[in-house]
Amino acid sequence: MSEDVPPYAAAPVMAYVYPCPHCRAQITLDHGDLQPVQEQMVGAERQCSRCEGWARIWVAMPDRELIIDKGVAPTVAGVIPQEQRDDEDMAIARAQNAHQRYQDAIFAVMHQMIPHGNGVLTQAILDDLDAARAEDNAARENLDRILDEIRTGKRR
Ligand SMILES: [Zn+2]
Repeated sequence: MSEDVPPYAAAPVMAYVYPCPHCRAQITLDHGDLQPVQEQMVGAERQCSRCEGWARIWVAMPDRELIIDKGVAPTVAGVIPQEQRDDEDMAIARAQNAHQRYQDAIFAVMHQMIPHGNGVLTQAILDDLDAARAEDNAARENLDRILDEIRTGKRR
């Protein structure tokens, strides 16, 4: 009879306390939250209530060693919120447009120089170059932030 019960289910009810892999906050995981994954391992995906990062928790059998990895928020393809997909699409388009605009602004400066142009750089051309560079940097930082959120599991 007891041979039908997997070893992890035979353990007394207990909770694991483990550090969040992102911010080190303590997260409690009830023994019953663990799911059988393979013959020798049980695992769970948990979100940290402090930093909202995801952790993947494994308990390696037979020694019940607790293993914690940075996890990824569980999602199913197609159920990523429309608002989030729009945010990501806009960030990519903004970065592409900003980069193109910056290249155009550099080209405008080059075009004014001898032998192509008269060598006079107007304030408008220089202002446009500064503005295009600032937008290129801002757009790239915005995209990097989103990519970092995906990487650390805060976004999906
Ligand atoms: Zn955390």
